[in-house]
Amino acid sequence: MKREIIKAKYWWRCCCDSAFGWGAAWCRDGFLLARPDYEARARERLIVLLDGFKRLGLCTEPEYAAFAKSVASEQLSHLPVLDKPGLQKLFPRLQENYKHRADVYPNATGGSTGEPVSYLRSKLQDNAGGGASYEMFKLLGWRPGMLRVSLWGSERDIGRAEKRKGWWKSLLDDTTLVGAYAPDEEVFRRFVDTIEARPGCAVYGFTSLLAECARVMVKNGWQLAPGAVGTAWVGAEAVSDAQREVFYRAFGVRLRDHYGSRECSTIAAECDHRTRHINPRYLVEAVDHATRRVLPAGEVGSLLVTDLFNEVTPLIRYEIGDLGSVDWGDCPCGRSGFCLTELTGRTAGLFELESGRKVSALFFNHLLKEFPTVLQFQVLRDGLAEFRVAYTGEALSADEQARLESVVSHLLEGARVTAVYMEQLDRSASGKLMQYRDLRDEAEG
Ligand SMILES: [Zn+2]
Repeated sequence: MKREIIKAKYWWRCCCDSAFGWGAAWCRDGFLLARPDYEARARERLIVLLDGFKRLGLCTEPEYAAFAKSVASEQLSHLPVLDKPGLQKLFPRLQENYKHRADVYPNATGGSTGEPVSYLRSKLQDNAGGGASYEMFKLLGWRPGMLRVSLWGSERDIGRAEKRKGWWKSLLDDTTLVGAYAPDEEVFRRFVDTIEARPGCAVYGFTSLLAECARVMVKNGWQLAPGAVGTAWVGAEAVSDAQREVFYRAFGVRLRDHYGSRECSTIAAECDHRTRHINPRYLVEAVDHATRRVLPAGEVGSLLVTDLFNEVTPLIRYEIGDLGSVDWGDCPCGRSGFCLTELTGRTAGLFELESGRKVSALFFNHLLKEFPTVLQFQVLRDGLAEFRVAYTGEALSADEQARLESVVSHLLEGARVTAVYMEQLDRSASGKLMQYRDLRDEAEG
């Protein structure tokens, strides 16, 4: 009990310290930062962060030195962009730098995007970031005490929010998970029953799985009691208008967009007025993917994220691999600040097998973890029951290759599967690897 109190106090101090970085702005009124002095304060915080990194021998490029002396916000665009290979290269140096700090621990991406990147986080950052995330969840309609029911690919892939500790965990720990990569009606029924047993709960999950569940509910005439769902949001994939519509018909609440990543927590969350407010913990820019030129407000480009809270990994102008656009918005909900006006990055989606059963493209990710020498992969569909698994890394032995082909074929209802070693895989316009590509659609298009 005593330990819990100390932890709570620690969290409180982190969030309410009047110093900018861990200011009351994030905790007591999450969007105070969206005032006119927002930019100046964010810049000050960034300068403090950069000073710390430079002292550790990180961020040594001359552009960083110039930034620390300047006060103009345009200067941000003069700083180098950190892409995923760049972060991967930096990682051993980070580990070396922080090996004596007990509160620093490694984390890795790779849940749904298939391209694992390691980075470091700190407990201090987690505690302070909790206040910001708390506000973002409130924006999504969640309230303390609201039980959560999630439809996710698998338990292993559930987001970090489910692994939190202490105070923050006690707030968000009431999650019941229904997980399946290729759910059938029985899984969806279990999900609906779970919701019904928790009236007023918050529902969230993979976009494509929730939309498919809604379609099955409408088709079968499964109806939820009014008020069964308090609020709902999606994650991991972009959401379309058609998906929103079928979800509303089945669940009786509007489906909201939640945009986050493993490197960062909640980057943007959608309010009652369909505005995706950006978490003031992050500076988000949209740039031209090829030239890295910053695009005008509202124009879609590759998103760069600067995390003002991560003081152990320089996530500064970090290219996260999603496409979107950023603009300033004065929202009717009362919040003024930066918003994501477009978000078109990830669409893993579901695809249909010969029998009509639908499988989430995310499930390959799970499966390929069994083959540790495979670095990246892409599933290519050449015909109704004909697939290729293209992969990079080390070429598999004949035995391994046969095993891979047989496992994938089994999951794809006996389809013909060939594993192909490649030097490099094709990427989408944002530079992100598509896990599944239907070459039949591409031939038509
Ligand atoms: Zn709003």
